[in-house]
Amino acid sequence: MAGAFSNAKAQLDSISTLLAKDYPDKKLFNLYLSRLKKHSRILKKNITILLDSGKYASFLAYRIQHNDARGPFKGGIRFHPGVSEDEVKALSFWMSIKCAVVGIPFGGAKGGIKVEPKKLSLSELERLSKAYAEFVSPYIGENTDVPAPDVNTGEREMAWMLTAFEKKSGRHSPGTFTGKPIALGGSQGRTEATGLGGFIVLQAYLKMKKLLPRKTTIAIQGFGNVGYWFANLADAAGCKVVAISDSSGGFFSRMGVDIDKLSLLKKQLGSFEKARKSLKYDFITNEELLKLKVDILVPAALENAIDKGNAREVCAKTIIEMANGPVTREGEEILLKKGIEIVPDVLSNAGGVTVSYFEWVQNNEGDCWTKDKVNSELKKIMEKSFMEIYTVSKEKKITYRMAAYYLAVKRILDAMILRGG
Ligand code: NAD
Repeated sequence: MAGAFSNAKAQLDSISTLLAKDYPDKKLFNLYLSRLKKHSRILKKNITILLDSGKYASFLAYRIQHNDARGPFKGGIRFHPGVSEDEVKALSFWMSIKCAVVGIPFGGAKGGIKVEPKKLSLSELERLSKAYAEFVSPYIGENTDVPAPDVNTGEREMAWMLTAFEKKSGRHSPGTFTGKPIALGGSQGRTEATGLGGFIVLQAYLKMKKLLPRKTTIAIQGFGNVGYWFANLADAAGCKVVAISDSSGGFFSRMGVDIDKLSLLKKQLGSFEKARKSLKYDFITNEELLKLKVDILVPAALENAIDKGNAREVCAKTIIEMANGPVTREGEEILLKKGIEIVPDVLSNAGGVTVSYFEWVQNNEGDCWTKDKVNSELKKIMEKSFMEIYTVSKEKKITYRMAAYYLAVKRILDAMILRGG
C-alpha cells in the first residue's frame, strides 16, 4: 500500500475548494485543514519477546493517533508483514473520517505490528499481544484511545491486550478495547456488524434507485467475515449473488450461488479452489470476477483491488466498497468516466466501528444490549448516514465519496475550531 497516506491527503485536497466556501475566515480554514494532514502522535517501538525456542525476536510496532477533536482516538490493531508507518498513518486518517461520516463521537487512530502471525505459536502471539498493550498503555484508555481488532487480530488478541492493560493500570476498564469476547464485555452483533452495515447501505441504495432486490445481481470479492455476512444477508433479501471468491478463486452461476453450501465447503476444505470439484458452478479467477456484468460489485477483500490496470474492464453499474481502500485514485477516475457509481468504504464498511461504539457505550454504562437493540440502532445510524451523503451528493453534484468527505471533514474542522488553539 505504497503512498497510501499521500492518497489520503489527496482525497482531503479534492474537497478543500468546496469546503472553503463554508468558512469565511480563509486563514483559519487553511490552518486547521493543514493540521488535519498531520498526526497528533506517532508511537513506534521495536517490541522484543521471548520465543518458544529460548531465543529473542524483535517486531516493529506502531500506534498512530490522527485526530481526537470529536472524541477519543479509535482504531484497530493489525498484525501483518506489510505493516508500515505510511499505511498506519493512512488508516488512522481514514478512521477519523469514518467516525465523522457516521457521526459517532470518536477520532481516528490505528496500530500495527510488522509480523507474520502464522509463523508464531499461540504462546508467542500472546506474549507479543501483551507486550504491545504494555507499550501503548500510557497512551490508551476508555477516554483517550480505544483500540480494536483489525487484519489478523480478533477477540482472542483483545482479551490478551485488555488483560495486560488492566494489570498495568490496576483496575478494570473494559471500555479501553472493543471487539472483545462477550464474556469480557464484548457486544452482541459485533461479528456480523460490518456486513450488516453494508447490507443496510445496499438496501437504502436500491430503494433510492427504485431497484428491486430480486432483479439485482451481485458479485462479491472476498469470503471472509465481511464478504460472507454481506452475501448471506443480500441472498436472504432476494438479491441474486451470482459470483463470490476467496484468495484462491471464485464461483460463478447466472442462477445465483448457494452461500450456505459454499460456507460449509470452505470450512471443510479450507479454500474454494479445493471445493471446485464438489460444485457445478463455473470456477473463475479474481480478475474475472471483477469484470463480470452485474448490477453491484462488492470488493470485500483487500485494498487496491481495482486500479488503473483493470478499472477499464469493470462492467458493474455500481461498486459498494466493503474493504478499506479497494479502489485506487487512478482506478476511481476511470470508473467515474465509465459512469460507474461508487459507494465509498468510509460509509459502507462503517457498521463495524459503529457497533464498536455501542460496545464502548455498554461498557461505560455497565450495560448489556440485546442483539435486536444493537441491530436496530445500527440500522438507524447507517440509514441516516446514507441519506445525508446521498442528499449532499445530489445538492452539490459531487460523487458519494466527495460528499462523505465533505460532511466528515466539516464535522472534524468545526470541532477543532470550537476547541481553538
Ligand atoms: P478476512 O480476513 O475475514 O477475509 C478476507 C477475505 O478476502 C478472505 O476470504 C480471503 O480469502 C479473501 N482474499 C484475500 N486476498 C484476496 C485476493 N487477492 N483476492 C480475493 N480475495 C482475497 O477479512 P475481513 O474482516 O472480511 O475484512 C475484509 C476487508 O474489510 C478488509 O479490507 C478489512 O480492512 C475491511 N474491513 C473489515 C471490517 C471488519 O469488521 N472485519 C471492518 C471494516 C473494514
